[in-house]
Amino acid sequence: MASEGNPVCRLCRREGVKLYLKGDKCYSRKCPVEKRAYPPGQHGQGGMRRKISDYGVQLREKQKMRRVYGLREGQFRICVKEATRRTGVTGENLLQILEMRLDNVVYRLGLATSRAQARQFVNHGHIQVNGRRVDIPSFQVRPNDEISVVEGARKIPPLVSAIEASGGRALPTWLQFDANQFRGSIVSAPTRDEIDTDVQESLIVEFYSR
Ligand code: SF4
Repeated sequence: MASEGNPVCRLCRREGVKLYLKGDKCYSRKCPVEKRAYPPGQHGQGGMRRKISDYGVQLREKQKMRRVYGLREGQFRICVKEATRRTGVTGENLLQILEMRLDNVVYRLGLATSRAQARQFVNHGHIQVNGRRVDIPSFQVRPNDEISVVEGARKIPPLVSAIEASGGRALPTWLQFDANQFRGSIVSAPTRDEIDTDVQESLIVEFYSR
């Protein structure tokens, strides 16, 4: 029987897009989505031809976004609720809330190779916001906040290699980063144009409006 591959990579193949869950591998030619965009499993290629209902399309989009940011359903639902409460376009609010999570910012700054690794760095107390240690991955950063690595963690091998590995990744325009100082800052809250996450957020809002 053929190998089904890495369980994390299977999530990407399930959604048919790269979710960037495996760090360096995602940016290399080893990424299985580059080779096989169809869903995993014996019926994967046939599955792509199946007609999907509107509900199914919305569900898949929701699962895709939830997996990109690595949230459990309950956590994701809380973000949707907050996005709905805010003024403006709910889908864009949702993306902004997810982008402004501390774990995501640590990843976007290039201090970690994946959001999962960024979450681990935050959980382990390696990250501070405005000079104070914050170990809550869901912590919402704000414009002008300064994100840095605590002094004692600047030499830990996974962090050093993550910074080296992410050197070639583009820094979003709403962030600034100084690798020598192990420090970044939030220039402004990101607009939709500044977020490269490949999702149709309006479908997700429709999913939760049912
Ligand atoms: Fe695996 Fe990353 Fe490619 Fe997804 S994007 S299939 S996690 S290597």
